[in-house]
Parts: sequence; structure tokens; C-alpha cells
Amino acid sequence: MDLIVKNGTVVTSTDVLRADIGIANGKIVDVKKKITASGETVIDARGKYILPGVIDPHTHMELPFMAATSADDFEAGTIAAAFGGVTTILDFAIQPKGNTFLETIELWRKKADPKVVIDYSLHVAVTDLTDERLAEIPKVLKYGVTSFKLFMTYRKEGMISEDWQLLEILRASRDRKFLVQVHAENPSIEEHLKQKYLKEGKTSAEYHPRSKPNFVEGEAARRVIYFADVSGGNLYIVHTSTREALAAAESAMSAGTKVYVETCPQYLMLTDEKYHQPNGRFFAISPPLRSKKDNEALWSGLTREIVKTVGSDHCPFTSAQKDLGKDDFTKIPNGVPGTEVILPILYSEGVGKKRITLNQLVKVTSFNTAKLFGLYPRKGAISKGSDADLVILDPNFKMELSQENLHTKIDYTVYEGLKVRGVPVTTISKGKPVILERQFVGERGKGQFVPRDLVTAL
Ligand SMILES: [Zn+2]
Repeated sequence: MDLIVKNGTVVTSTDVLRADIGIANGKIVDVKKKITASGETVIDARGKYILPGVIDPHTHMELPFMAATSADDFEAGTIAAAFGGVTTILDFAIQPKGNTFLETIELWRKKADPKVVIDYSLHVAVTDLTDERLAEIPKVLKYGVTSFKLFMTYRKEGMISEDWQLLEILRASRDRKFLVQVHAENPSIEEHLKQKYLKEGKTSAEYHPRSKPNFVEGEAARRVIYFADVSGGNLYIVHTSTREALAAAESAMSAGTKVYVETCPQYLMLTDEKYHQPNGRFFAISPPLRSKKDNEALWSGLTREIVKTVGSDHCPFTSAQKDLGKDDFTKIPNGVPGTEVILPILYSEGVGKKRITLNQLVKVTSFNTAKLFGLYPRKGAISKGSDADLVILDPNFKMELSQENLHTKIDYTVYEGLKVRGVPVTTISKGKPVILERQFVGERGKGQFVPRDLVTAL
């Protein structure tokens, strides 16, 4: 063995137990009450929890978007992720119009491969679905990319998909068992409202959420859920922000439609009151922040296991980049950081406040994500044969989130002043510490692209 993690409390999707973990060649080789060391490196996890490394299914590193490029490249972004106990990110390779899916993946791999400090995989974000691209899907699945994202909005940005395209790819996903991720917002209404406000001289950040009221997401979610229903496809709604979308998904799930719901820490923790602050533009994201009622509905969705995964939608822009929209809210680059706070927020606000159990924490941060995205049991588990991707969380470690103690490149944090209790202290990627006692000890380019299997239904 190369490494033994001793004396910790191991948490999986089903168990919480005292056990030692033996690791060799990047894999878990033993999990039992006591493993006696004979010269191996030992990490003492006494008083701490050991969880499967977090899988963040939703990041945008160095993404060119709305006249800016997200400020964390694949190195800075994966370092920030690792500080949050993340051992795998799933980033979006955005298809340049006219490119094949495999060309798109190669383009993103060129950026990511030399820089990532933890493992990663990619989704294809489809901007140009044609018959040729539908025919290419089997090759992409074979390559190990088994999820495709479509946008119901972003017409101006050239990323929108039409209803027929949503329906066709959902239909294909039923037989081929891949996942169709959808950004659900009604473009017609949001475009109309944006123009209306701008004409009235209403240009500040508070008109960002007003141009995208709850029903803009709710309607689009219902529509695409209906398409999933009639096609039998595998639908995954990304960054769910409203109680309306959640309710639509919940009733469809109980009727047997394959629809999976993701939310993000910002939709659990922050509200649209932020847009009234002088720096309101820092909080511009799509869908926008909502009300306390929506926060609570999403927490309840986690408690009742209607929400299946939590991803970050990590897409940070500096204050200078956000200033591009100072005089016109439609020009604010949309995005906030978040990969580093998934685990501290879900532990502190979720487990700490008894909204979710430790097992549910593992499900939504790792186990469910691994299953849906074809990474299980290689990842998302602490068992013999799995990758030794682990996070050691100190339940008594207190931290006040601030720009100084978070690791994204940007010059502010949207969580300024939020106090958390329970922080990841050590992150192990394939048997090697990347973060050790809150110090970065990893190496640029050490992470790998991980080919994925087909979706396993939950
Ligand atoms: Zn996103």
C-alpha cells in the first residue's frame, strides 16, 4: 500500500462507520476497522469525516462568454475546486457553430489537459444540432462523453436550441442512454422584458431578475419535461432556481418521467435582494437569484431527494469584467464562482441545520452525480477498486467565507461574511493529496480526462 487514511469516520451514500482506508496505485484496496501500517504514509483523520470526493457536474473554466472570459482557467479553477473537496469537475465544451462534437471536445481538452490538478470530464454544449450531429452521437458516447447540454435561451449569444432540437436529442437519449442537460428559460419573454426595461431607461442590475421572473424558468421547464415525457428521454435540468420548476419536475418524476434536478449553492443561499446593492451586478447569473421561498423549496427538494445533484455553475468574472454591464444590465457577464463552497455550504447549512443527513450529503455531491454521469463505481464510492478520490472534512472547523480565504481568481466573493462550520481540510485525488491541511500540494496537469459510461437511472 502507498497510503493509509486512519481513524476517520467514513461516510458513503448508505453508511457512516469508523474505518481505515488503504490505498495503492491510486485505488482503494481496503476499507476495514483497522489497517496496520508497515511503512506507508499515514494520514490521521481522527475526529473527521471521510467522504467520496465531490463531483462538481457544472463548471465553466476559461469560458468565453458575453464579451469576457471567465476568470478561472483550468488550473486556478481546479485548485479552487480541490480546496472545496472536489476531485472531479465536469466542464462544458461549447460547440463552435459548424464544428463536430468531437472537434469541440478536442478544443476543450487542449485547454484543460495541461492545467487540471484533479480529474475532469466534459459535456458537449450543443449550439448547432443538425442531422449530421445527431448521427455523430454514437461516436461521442464511445469516446466517453455521455451528456449533452442544450440551451432553451441565449439567442443573441448564438447558443439557443429550438424545440424540435430538444425533442430529437431527447428521443435519441432514450435508446442510447445518455443524458440531455437543459438550461430552461423562455427566450421570447425574457428578450421582450429586457428590451422593454432598456427602452424605459431601466438599466441597473435589479432589472436582470425582473426580466426573468420565476415563470420564465417554470414555463421552459414544463415544456422540456413534456418533451421528455413524450420522447421517453433522459432529462437533467441544470441550475434549477425556482419552486415552479421543481414542482413540475416532482410531479413528472412521480408519473415516471426520467427527469433529474440539479441546483446550485447560490440558489439555496442567496436572494434577489442582492441586486439592490450598489454591486448588484456581481450577482448577475442566469437564471437569476430568487426569493427566500425558492431557497426553502430547494432545500426541501434536497431533504425529500427530489433534487438529485448540486453543481456549482462556477463561472467567475472579476469586478472589472462585471463593470461591462454597469450602464446596461443585459451586458453584465453572467456568472458567479461556487465550486469551492458546495461542500462547506451543504455540510454547514444542510447537515449542520438538519436539513439533510450525511448520507444525503454524499448522494447529492458525489454518488448520484457519479451514477447519472457514468462515473460509478469508479468514482462516487468508498469501496475496494474505486479511485482513491477522498475528501477529509473537519466538522468543527469554522470559517467565515471571504475573498481572502477562497481561491477563485476574482477580487470579491458573493458569500462575503457567511459563516460555515465544517470545512474540507484534505483532498486526495487518486491516492495523492492535492490539498493537505488546507495547503495546496498538487501539481498542474496531474489530473486526467476521464472517459465516462452511459447513464445509470436513479
Ligand atoms: Zn452553466
